[in-house]
Amino acid sequence: MITAYSGPTKRAAEPDCAAGPWPAHAWRLELKQAVTDIDELQGLLNVDLACANAAPSGCFPLRVPRPYVQRMRRGDPNDPLLRQVLPLAREADAVAGYVADPLEEAAALVAPGAIQKYAGRTLIVASGACAVHCRYCFRRHFPYDGHRQGADFPALAAIRDDPSIREVILSGGDPLLLTDAHLGRLVARISAIEHVSRLRIHTRLPVVIPQRVTAALVDILASARQRVVVVLHFNHGNEIDADCARALRNLGCFTLLNQSVLLRGVNDDADVLRTLCERLFDLGALPYYLHLPDAVAGTAHFDVPERRAIDIHRRLTAQLPGYLVPKLVRETPGAAAKAVVAT
Ligand code: SF4
Repeated sequence: MITAYSGPTKRAAEPDCAAGPWPAHAWRLELKQAVTDIDELQGLLNVDLACANAAPSGCFPLRVPRPYVQRMRRGDPNDPLLRQVLPLAREADAVAGYVADPLEEAAALVAPGAIQKYAGRTLIVASGACAVHCRYCFRRHFPYDGHRQGADFPALAAIRDDPSIREVILSGGDPLLLTDAHLGRLVARISAIEHVSRLRIHTRLPVVIPQRVTAALVDILASARQRVVVVLHFNHGNEIDADCARALRNLGCFTLLNQSVLLRGVNDDADVLRTLCERLFDLGALPYYLHLPDAVAGTAHFDVPERRAIDIHRRLTAQLPGYLVPKLVRETPGAAAKAVVAT
């Protein structure tokens, strides 16, 4: 049954992390049962995906959890959630300027799984796996195998040795795909590094399998000595259903931010983005970045030209208070910070 989000949810005056988490193993079951077969997806959605140019994609195959599929519109090959996960034949086309590593992250690796692009912050590729395979992903060609974080967490050496690092970012892959035990060990090790004062977690799990937000997970994040920021990756208001709302409420004791990618045919519309930003705020998350898509091989069909992006952003700005408008940004390899295209 679809449990579509139907309106603002009143937030408690005091965030209550103990209220409403799921049983410990519910998310693992969803992970195991994710849809990986296009024919099955076609049947579930009652739609002809051949018309949408769906195609098997060997190195980055279809993978989409069922709770996310349940939020897609039946019979609509252009559903904005479906478009984010459906492999298309055109992904194989070579397009000038689209490459495997457009952000040149290979050059920013300072230790296995440790990427340092900006001053004072180090990103750890905490997991090489994701619950969902987003077709627009800028790390879809990342060589995860050489960067695994085993029990010795090799990425941490680069952080311990550099007192200028004040913030650690757990990314991936999706860091919340780590087992609770492994994530707990990682958080404890980061907590022990005195010069680190912020811990940021980037995740799409509360979007696609909100059941991941268990009481144990909340406890692990709350055990960090540092202030914890959870950056969610919602791209469209239709992604937010009652279970996502519940997950965000359970994460309410942390700073919640959201970053989206501006994607052609998904959310390249000021009204769609306004709805997303308002729903996120109702649930305690502030939209902070709207990324122009990176030029990753296989993703050219998502591109939104910059002039059009600025126009969409201008119309969004006209509809919302300033604190609800995400900055429109572009990432340029080697730059000291993301370039703000519009605020
Ligand atoms: S969850 Fe994030 S890292 Fe994983 S495929 Fe999607 S965008 Fe990429």
